[in-house]
Amino acid sequence: MSSTSKAPKNAKKSSLKDRGNLFDIAMAQVEKAADVVGLAPKVRAILAQPKNELIINFPVQMDDGSWKMFKGYRVQHNNLLGPYKGGMRYHHEANLDEMKALASWMTYKSALHDIPFGGGKGGVRVNPSTLSAREKERLTRRFTHALGDNIGPEWDIPAPDVGTDGQVMVWMMDTYMNVAGYSDKNAVRRVVTGKTIHSGGSHGRSEATGLGLVYCIEEWAKDAELDLDGCTFTVQGFGNVGSHLANLLTKRGAVLVGTGDHGGYIANPEGLNPHKLRQYMAKTGTVAKYQGAKEISREEFFGLECDIFIPAALELEIGPDEAKSLKCKMIAEGANGPTYPEAESILKERGIEVIPDVLANSGGVVVSYFEWLQNKRSERWELEEVREKLHRRMSSTYRAVRQCATQRKLDMRTATYVIALERLQHSYSERGIFP
Ligand code: NAD
Repeated sequence: MSSTSKAPKNAKKSSLKDRGNLFDIAMAQVEKAADVVGLAPKVRAILAQPKNELIINFPVQMDDGSWKMFKGYRVQHNNLLGPYKGGMRYHHEANLDEMKALASWMTYKSALHDIPFGGGKGGVRVNPSTLSAREKERLTRRFTHALGDNIGPEWDIPAPDVGTDGQVMVWMMDTYMNVAGYSDKNAVRRVVTGKTIHSGGSHGRSEATGLGLVYCIEEWAKDAELDLDGCTFTVQGFGNVGSHLANLLTKRGAVLVGTGDHGGYIANPEGLNPHKLRQYMAKTGTVAKYQGAKEISREEFFGLECDIFIPAALELEIGPDEAKSLKCKMIAEGANGPTYPEAESILKERGIEVIPDVLANSGGVVVSYFEWLQNKRSERWELEEVREKLHRRMSSTYRAVRQCATQRKLDMRTATYVIALERLQHSYSERGIFP
């Protein structure tokens, strides 16, 4: 596994590609835990690289009749425990190293929860807000067709991520079904998860990552002896994860005092109404300039006084400057990889605890697994059943991580990887490496 990547001084203003190599950062985190576990050299070597890295250049016809080439990715990190599993991201800065990091985190999330899935990630380098709905559909169908047998219900199962949603998943499913053959159509429905309810999705999937975060925060609050009723929080990113999280945490009595997205940041010490904010965002595409809140800068946002901070936008948003500014007791990482290693040491010195991404945002993959199971068995579970099952899994996994951290004197991130790596190591040592 390779070296760490330095946070540039102006991490906050740079584009993603200038922020350091995300895969190097991911590998450095794993390496620390691998030393604790005493991971066998052959397992280290296998996990240090994805099994498959696919790049596809494909054409799409635009509404004006012209043709444009797009670059699509699918990285398959590991499938020891089950089929590759992970989101599809549509973002104008999507790149291979980012996909490699995100795919590896999926391997550890599944292993952490003992879910029979591996890790994968993919997407297209495109700004989805520049596409019409018809263009987005054509791009999705053409990309899915180009992926061909590189995805499949027992091989590699995509899900939504940044810039994609249930509708995109349904287009993927439908395209895959149409090439699968007449009699296999329904058997392959589970080729993607995160679908809409009408097309075979699970109740509770769209809120799952936010709700999983809330369950982790509830467990942490018990340990910290903090009453969530009346405590304050801020959220960076108000998309799928951030908006559901804000809504669900507010229902438990917590007060949202600041948020922001690609359009800008807002604050109100009296509290923001996440439901109204979501309605406003649906109309305008951003939370910026929401009435009933003060516009603030990104720097002011990171300096807001609150109990809990939830990054739920993109990776590498918390550099050393942000770590020094934050005035919270705890960070629950909704986004994948939001924190630079250098920032993490500063947070530790300042006594700010971090519930790491691989644990905190894993509610999505847990309910994706429930969706996959429901499709496989032709079942439909009630929302309350999904929530109860998610609660049980998130709280017991949180407890296992907390116990590992306490007993072995580790931070929560390292403890999370230790549990995942030990599961992978056991399986590798029993199965051996063929031939
Ligand atoms: P989304 O596209 O629905 O929302 C992303 C949000 O981030 C939007 O509000 C957007 O405006 C904001 N954003 C983008 N660029 C920004 C910038 N430069 N500064 C501030 N805000 C910015 O995506 P999502 O599904 O909510 O995913 C958010 C994060 O959570 C990602 O890191 C993703 O990988 C992670 N995640 C998502 C899921 C899931 O189930 N959707 C599961 C696990 C982890």
